[in-house]
Amino acid sequence: MTPEAGSDSRIPLIAIIGAGPAGLMAAEVLARAGCRVTVYDRMPSPARKFLIAGRGGLNLTHSEPRAGFLARYGAATEWLAPSLDAFPPARLRAWAEGLGEPTFVGSSGRVFPRSFKASPLLRAWLGRLDALGVRLESRHRWLGWNRAGALRFAGPEGESEAEADAVLLALGGASWPRLGSDGGWADILREDGVEIAPLRPANSGVRIDWSAPFRTRFAGAPLKRIALSLGATRVRGEAMIDGAGLEGGAVYALSATLREAIDRESAVILHVDLRPDVTAEALAVRLAAGRKGESMSNRLRKAAGLSPVAAGLLREAGPLPAEPEALARRIKALPLTATGMAGLERAISTAGGVTRTMVDDGLMLKARPGVFIAGEMLDWEAPTGGYLLQACLATGHAAARAMLARLGLAVPERWNGAWEADAGEAADRREEWSRDDG
Ligand SMILES: Cc1cc2nc3c(=O)[nH]c(=O)nc-3n(C[C@H](O)[C@H](O)[C@H](O)COP(=O)(O)OP(=O)(O)OC[C@H]3O[C@@H](n4cnc5c(N)ncnc54)[C@H](O)[C@@H]3O)c2cc1C
Repeated sequence: MTPEAGSDSRIPLIAIIGAGPAGLMAAEVLARAGCRVTVYDRMPSPARKFLIAGRGGLNLTHSEPRAGFLARYGAATEWLAPSLDAFPPARLRAWAEGLGEPTFVGSSGRVFPRSFKASPLLRAWLGRLDALGVRLESRHRWLGWNRAGALRFAGPEGESEAEADAVLLALGGASWPRLGSDGGWADILREDGVEIAPLRPANSGVRIDWSAPFRTRFAGAPLKRIALSLGATRVRGEAMIDGAGLEGGAVYALSATLREAIDRESAVILHVDLRPDVTAEALAVRLAAGRKGESMSNRLRKAAGLSPVAAGLLREAGPLPAEPEALARRIKALPLTATGMAGLERAISTAGGVTRTMVDDGLMLKARPGVFIAGEMLDWEAPTGGYLLQACLATGHAAARAMLARLGLAVPERWNGAWEADAGEAADRREEWSRDDG
């Protein structure tokens, strides 16, 4: 960092590296405050992971009350709370609506844009940033700093350097590397003595060695309305048979617990309840009442209400017991051996990153004053449900506010609306959002 970088002009020059949700949110706050902002990204176009997130419905945030919401960040709750309080779900919803994408609360409490997609929101957002004068330099891969403290990039015309009065690193985690975020920044920062908790898959599937016939027949098949248990932790939801194991929401929700257990024991037993709404006793009665001479497949389908994939899964744990009680117990607690986590390349998000002690309360790197960090680069993890994007946008917003304070510029007022994403709240606060930050 060269403190003189912006001295030829009274307008601070900001470099943001990473055009994902965290970097773009910071760009918006900083450009609104009057800074000259350039966003660099290694990919040909911005926010590719955000666009992929939209493929499954773009779950922007969640509507649950503050205490439960914050608890989703586990060990990082206390660290992230100030950022989330300054940019809570209601504010995120107001922001989305301000971009022409009103949101709604789904039956699970998750919050989605009306279009269910990321592309209209991103298009409007990039249009707004362009109007605010934000420059986007695509195909610029950040390489670190030169000896004088200038930023180094590999770009279409070879290596280049850039100076700035302040820098935000928002390079994302290491999951789905083909979308741009490959965790390559970790080595650069480690050279500066920055402690990085190992980048690990979060919200990822587990590896299970299926038998060849089961894999061939059922890979890609959904397991609906099941419950998964690991020790005392039980999660209801859906999963999907994958060639290499089990994927899907219920597995992702257990993945932090699974990852730790697999680290300790190398293989762990996961229990699947294929009929979570029926007790083992009721199921045994139904199974006992079947016709004499009826095939096992028919019994499982008619009496137990199992789909072909659920019945197939049941057989993966060995020969089926004939007695109704034992069969009911197998249906309610089918043991599967998980031998590992699916790789980072398939995980929804990343655990690990720049640890809390490495940054100050404004998310500025202690080892490099003037360099801030936001988004998935930071060492936190959360389940799916909108908590990921909410924290990325909130930390991008928080880092930008701290940057403005450091540069001696006016910091937008704190959000004074409700915390939770109440229906209707967003509309009420939309004006406030543009007043605060406009
Ligand atoms: C399939 C999928 C579905 C998802 N669905 C949801 C969802 O519905 N709800 C939710 O809350 N979250 C979801 N997520 C997670 C969410 O998309 C991420 O948490 C979020 O995008 C992270 O934001 P970020 O700004 O920190 O990083 P990123 O979005 O990863 O952006 C980082 C940017 O930095 C750039 N970059 C990296 N290294 C360099 C470098 N050396 N030089 C220059 N640029 C670099 C990358 O190209 C990238 O554009 C989903 C993720 C996936 C993979």
